[in-house]
Amino acid sequence: MNIKAIYKQGICITKDILFPAYCLGCGKEGILVCKDCLQTLDCSGVFCCPVCHASSLNGKVCEICMAQSYLDRHVAITQYKEKGLVGDMLHMFKYSYVEDMAQILRDMAIKFSQVYSFDVDIVVCVPLHRRRLAQRGFNQAEEIARISSQVFDIPFHSILRRCRHTRQQAKLNREGRLVNLIDAFEIIKNDFDLNNKRVLLVDDVLTTGSTMQECAKVLKGAGAKEVIGFSVARG
Ligand SMILES: [Zn+2]
Ligand SMILES: [Zn+2]
Repeated sequence: MNIKAIYKQGICITKDILFPAYCLGCGKEGILVCKDCLQTLDCSGVFCCPVCHASSLNGKVCEICMAQSYLDRHVAITQYKEKGLVGDMLHMFKYSYVEDMAQILRDMAIKFSQVYSFDVDIVVCVPLHRRRLAQRGFNQAEEIARISSQVFDIPFHSILRRCRHTRQQAKLNREGRLVNLIDAFEIIKNDFDLNNKRVLLVDDVLTTGSTMQECAKVLKGAGAKEVIGFSVARG
């Protein structure tokens, strides 16, 4: 079995068992993503309408899609290609927490922060249902949200909860995805007042956008003035 196949299966990856690491991009020994491969990733941002994917200034929702979008904008650090390096990186990070990968994602966010910044009040993340959280041990979206909070210097608040255990979105078509998510999220009752706040909603990748839209709907329902989606990659 080659090293990528091992990674992809999410077999317990720790430095003790799998050392040294091999670059997911070129296979070079030493680090999960080597400097050269990291440099091939364009981290200058993807700014597109969250619904129709037409490129737009600051990722603003276009006029045609405005009526059907709870997200005001969406911004990603880079383009998503399932079979590409970013796809491999996010896949690995989704199924096993790898500290080195968190560091690489942080480096990408830092690179992006040198060309772009957000004018928002808080960072929140797309939540996992507690059952899935228990299976995986961590929520990759929350890790990315915490990284974003530090890099962009915006406070992180855990205010969304997945109240229904939903089927995995990736296994459903567009219709199925929308139905699957109805009433799946709610605001955690806490002291934080969302009223009139501008929110940066973080997930690892945006593909159809239905998950983020459903979260944005709940945030808006609780009084948020503006919801900007932010992800590492954009499909
Ligand atoms: Zn490499
Ligand atoms: Zn549009």
